[in-house]
This record gives sequence, structure tokens and C-alpha cells, in this order.
Amino acid sequence: MVVSITTILNLVLNNRHLSVAWRSYSHRAPFSCVYKNMLLKRILAASLVIGLILVVGSLGMAEAQSQFSLGLQGLAWGHSTISVLIVPQEGMSWWQPSYLNATLHAVDEWNNAIYYFAMNYSGFSYLSRLRLIPTVAESTASGYDVYITWVKVFQNPTSDEIGSSQAVYEPPGTMTNNTIILASENAHGRVLNEYDMQSIALHEVGHSLGLSHSSYSADIMYPSYTPKTTVQALSTLDLYAVSTIMAWMASSVYDPLRSPPQIPSVALPENITYQFLPVSYGDLPSLPPPSENSLDPILQLLASPESLFTILAVVIVVTLVDISLRRRRKYPQSNEEYSQYGPVPSNLSVAQILVQRAIMETRMVLRPGFEPGFPARLASHL
Ligand SMILES: [Zn+2]
Repeated sequence: MVVSITTILNLVLNNRHLSVAWRSYSHRAPFSCVYKNMLLKRILAASLVIGLILVVGSLGMAEAQSQFSLGLQGLAWGHSTISVLIVPQEGMSWWQPSYLNATLHAVDEWNNAIYYFAMNYSGFSYLSRLRLIPTVAESTASGYDVYITWVKVFQNPTSDEIGSSQAVYEPPGTMTNNTIILASENAHGRVLNEYDMQSIALHEVGHSLGLSHSSYSADIMYPSYTPKTTVQALSTLDLYAVSTIMAWMASSVYDPLRSPPQIPSVALPENITYQFLPVSYGDLPSLPPPSENSLDPILQLLASPESLFTILAVVIVVTLVDISLRRRRKYPQSNEEYSQYGPVPSNLSVAQILVQRAIMETRMVLRPGFEPGFPARLASHL
């Protein structure tokens, strides 16, 4: 490009205008800096907000968790091997063989949960010696700790009872036996399926271990039951409560005057999170997996408050990064884009504008040869 002397002189004469324009441009240049500072401030502010959300969320979780309580009956077994006699009602028209299977699974689920809790939570290894030993018999016999049998329905439509557990104990609190009765249908004629039966048996076996009811509706020890199509899991709260009742096992000496601790209910300590324990069985055949089973862990995961906070934090961070990238893209990458960032003086000729831009660009980025054919030297002279 040829730049005439007149053009350069004009440029020098218009230097005042140019310097205004420069200031205009130079005012733009720190904009990115201001913007960066603002971005930094926004990131800091957003981080603070995220931090606050997480802290409040975790406090809320801790508080919610500490509010989950599980009542204790004030009764405990004085031995750690609990014999369970299961008496099916095979001659009855309403009897279903799956009821026995479900109940054996419930006993097994308790045994596995007890073992899992003892092995995975420090300070509770003594609990691993607590076992429920099931025996199936056609008729009842004496000498067992827990008895489990069935009736077609409890004749009490108002309570809609589907299971019961009755303890016999020696004062002050030593359990001597416990009778569990399970119903095949509720008072409204709804026949209970195998999963219902397992959940109800789990709940009643929990009573036979000295547990009362939980304040948390998702816990197996919640006093009312919503029919399900999946197997329900035991929780850390259930096992922590059993550990508390059977704390005498830590020293292996049962003192009927000192056990169990006479406290109405327990809540999880800070170092134990409320969670469901894995459902596993021993030698028993496993239940056919219901179709909902595959979705259940994902739904549980998404429904947990920790996951929601994590997802929220990720969404906020991704949004911030996206905004940052968009803003950066807006900052001019080439000289053409400078027109977006300031008025190009209209009273200059095209050549003047080009020279002016070249000078300003050279000053700003100290890059020679900015405009094709334009000597960098010229800019340095100005
Ligand atoms: Zn109950």
C-alpha cells in the first residue's frame, strides 16, 4: 500500500484526534483487563455461592440425617445366636410358597447386613457374631427364640395391619422369645407379593431384634409400608441401632441389669452416613430381578441430596466456563474486529484510517508489519 506524504502529514496534524482515538482504543485495551478482573470477581463470587450452597447443603444433610431416628424397645437378647423357627401354612388355600422364600431371604438379608456393617464400620466388629439361624418346620415347637408364621389377614380393617411382632421378656429388658405373624393380604383384600412379604418380614425381624420404629419414611423400620416391586434394603441406621442394643457383645458379657441401654431412640453419629446396605443372600436362590431394578440405583443416586448438589455445582462451573469462553471470543482477534470496539473516525480517508489502525495496533501489541505492505518503522517514528 502506498501512503502519501500528505496522508502522513494529515495524520500528524490530526494527531490530536488520533490521540483521542488512541485513548479510545487504549481505553478498550484495559477493558479486557477490567473484564478479566470482573470475571475473576464473578468466578470468586460464584465460587463463594457454590461453597455456601455446598456447606449449607451438607449442613442440611447432616441435620436431616441427625433427625432420622430409630426407636428402641428397651429389650435385648442375652445371647448372640438367635434361633428362628419358621412355620409355613402350606395347607391353606391362600398360602403361596414364595412367602417362605421371601421370609428366608429377609432373615438372610439381616444376617448379611449385620456382617457387612460389622466388617465395614469401625468399632462394630463385635456385631459379626450376631446371627439369626432359621429352621423351617411344619408345626411349631418350643425352644426357639423367634417364631414366624402366617395368617390370611388381620381382622382389623382400621389399622390395616400386615405384620406383627410380640416380645416376651424378663424384666428389666431381656428378650426371651418373640412371635412374628405375617399376613398374606391386607384388610382391603390386596394380596401381598413376594417383595412385599420380604419387606414386611424384614421389618418384623427388626422388631424381634429390639428395634422400634424409624422417623424416616424410606427406612424399613418406618411404621407404615408402601407396596413395592423391589427388594428393600436395610440401612446403616437399622444396623447402628442393633449395634447399640447389642453393645454388650463388645465385652461378651451380658448383664441383664445393664443391657440394653435404656434410651428411647438412636440417631446416627456424625461419622456414619445414612445409607442403604447392599442386599445379598447366602446360599438361597436369588429373587428374579424385577424390571424396575435396573433403574432403581440410578434413580436413588439422582434422588440423593449429595448428588443434586454435585450436579448443581458442575452445572454452575460449566456455565461459568462457557460464559468465560464466549466473552474471550468477543475480544478482538484481528484488526477488522476493532471496528466493534470503537468508532472509526469518519473524517479520515481510508488510507488514514488504515495508517491510524496500524499505528495503534503496533503500539498496542508491539507487533511490526501489522498491515500488509505497511512499514513498521513508520509506526515507531510516530
Ligand atoms: Zn412395626
